[in-house]
Amino acid sequence: MVQLRKDSMLDRLVIVSDGDYSDSNARDNRDGYEDRCIYCPGNEHLTKPAVLALVQKEGMMRRLADAEDNHIDDWCVRIVPSSKPLVSISANGTYSNKPFYSEPAYGYHYILVASREHCKPSSIPAEQWSNVLVALQDRVKWLYAQKGVSYVAIYMDYNATKEWHPHINIVTFPYMPPLIEQEVEYVNRYINESGSCPLCNIVSMEDKSPRHLISMDNFAAFCPWAPTHPYEFWIVPKKHAIQLLRMTQKEMDELATMLRVMLGGLYNTLGDVRFSMIVHASSEKSRKQLHWHIEVHPRLVDSNGLEDGFGVHFLGVSPETAASKLSSASRRELARIVGV
Ligand SMILES: [Zn+2]
Ligand SMILES: [Zn+2]
Ligand SMILES: [Zn+2]
Repeated sequence: MVQLRKDSMLDRLVIVSDGDYSDSNARDNRDGYEDRCIYCPGNEHLTKPAVLALVQKEGMMRRLADAEDNHIDDWCVRIVPSSKPLVSISANGTYSNKPFYSEPAYGYHYILVASREHCKPSSIPAEQWSNVLVALQDRVKWLYAQKGVSYVAIYMDYNATKEWHPHINIVTFPYMPPLIEQEVEYVNRYINESGSCPLCNIVSMEDKSPRHLISMDNFAAFCPWAPTHPYEFWIVPKKHAIQLLRMTQKEMDELATMLRVMLGGLYNTLGDVRFSMIVHASSEKSRKQLHWHIEVHPRLVDSNGLEDGFGVHFLGVSPETAASKLSSASRRELARIVGV
């Protein structure tokens, strides 16, 4: 059984499953790791066939896919169906209304294997991030063409263990997840009232603020005004853009450099910390806009009663102080990589 349930009072969305997820820590730490890593080269037969395998040959990037009995082994990025899916296209079951709202958790869950080797996200080269973005665009586009897909959620949970093989989760939902809905509602109200996008305004206001980190031609990075995690930062397209699907190759290459520089800067500032990297974007199935952005949430402390019980976050370090450390560390990283 895998169900989507909604809280009786709040819009909170819960995936309820009776699968083997009871030990959630073990799942987080060992995702993809049985007695050997299923994402490592040579173990391609341990995952379901890759729906996309990017292969670099003679300077060309080829988009291939595994056949049932023939696995592509010279991939640089691979996308496979998750071996422990959170949602399922074979989910069936009953629908019920509030106060006991539930429906089958219908959706797709893919894993994008972002590197051939085990390494920290901060060590993934910019060229490899470009390949990851190409693969991501390809799969997201395909997913939005499927029935029952209203939102494609993209996130990476990094856990500092040697078993961690760089990978990104791609999970679909039959409607917008609650936090996206909240951001989308706010942004559209603001656009209707003022005729401009709040994130476009914020990007230009943060350009000279004490929270500013790095600015490139098309992307800016800054610590948000009221983050939920210490050292949280966002990477935002400077021009209004609602989907990462529409990025040009030049923009992808620049974003790849930005990811390399910012994750390197985070590592140089805090060391090998756990973090989540989350993409917030508009739904291709909705006319409502959300200026897309990437949020990086370092997990320095466990959540606590104030957060869980009241939705109030305590930050032991201001975003301004965090930004001063992150910006010098990421500038050093940028100088090292692009030699400026
Ligand atoms: Zn591995
Ligand atoms: Zn905008
Ligand atoms: Zn957001």
